[in-house]
Amino acid sequence: MTSGPLVDRFGRVHRDLRISVTDRCSLRCTYCMPEQGVPWLPRDTMLTTEEVVRLAGVAVSLGIEEIRLTGGEPLLRRDLVDVVAGLAALEPSPEISMTTNGVGLAKTARALADAGLTRVNVSIDTLRRDIFLDLAKRDRLKDTLEGIHASAEAGLVPVKLNTVLMRGVNDHEAPDLLGFALEHGYQLRFIEQMPLDAQHQWDRTQMITGEEILERLRVRYDLTPLPDEARGSAPAELFLVDGGPATVGVIASVTMPFCGTCDRVRLTADGMVRNCLFATGETDLRTSLRAGASDEELADLFRASIGAKLPGHGINEPDFLQPPRPMSRIGG
Ligand code: SF4
Repeated sequence: MTSGPLVDRFGRVHRDLRISVTDRCSLRCTYCMPEQGVPWLPRDTMLTTEEVVRLAGVAVSLGIEEIRLTGGEPLLRRDLVDVVAGLAALEPSPEISMTTNGVGLAKTARALADAGLTRVNVSIDTLRRDIFLDLAKRDRLKDTLEGIHASAEAGLVPVKLNTVLMRGVNDHEAPDLLGFALEHGYQLRFIEQMPLDAQHQWDRTQMITGEEILERLRVRYDLTPLPDEARGSAPAELFLVDGGPATVGVIASVTMPFCGTCDRVRLTADGMVRNCLFATGETDLRTSLRAGASDEELADLFRASIGAKLPGHGINEPDFLQPPRPMSRIGG
């Protein structure tokens, strides 16, 4: 097996691999895709469990220490427990987490934890059933809440919650969502809405900025910023709530980009490496893998992708182009 860190030309060492294990999703969130959904990737292009584990193994040999499973919605992958078990058996064993909408998690949290999953990030944008239905086009708030609580009971802690606020839709709920997280001991992070929707309708003027998120929270809570060292390469700026120890995070990906400390690389469900969420190009590992490429050859492809990484997402540049692959096919 090959070895050596994945370093880009700006000196950023990549330790975090996000693997999208399916492009299917159980919800239809407005900021992600239209109500009727998007065409699914052809089944035969999706990586098998063995292929996912093999590519992850190559990445681990290149210094990847954390693997986050994403989608679409990872829980829709029937053999997800096998994927987790395969990843957990890699040497050295990576930390394995998952980003999910929580629907179905109540049934599988324990099995996933037993297989080697250590943490979850659950997306929840509202505590109101009517708003959930309006936003996600599915009446599944109860399932999401049950999934959140079940993951805590299964020891997938700390449970992190991700929230995207939308103007005039759920932005008034920011303090309630934080209250919910504080009551149960979950860690809430608010994320600025990014231009990754399949509809290409993202509108900067409609985005609730990090500053606005803080304004809404400060109506009810006293927030004290933690020093940057507490953040490391993590995207969330952290604030002590009412003097602590609980914190809340704000991920201001658009207005305060943190690309300078980025250590993330992504593998899509159809076997493409993406060196940035907003990359307009991809490196095809699936074709090489299925043509019999060696681990060293696959490692070279990973390295080539990271070598071509740009300094940042460029959203704030006049020539920014939204990538053709939407969020549902990249994963967070
Ligand atoms: S936008 Fe790209 S470079 Fe910036 S943090 Fe996200 S993945 Fe990394």
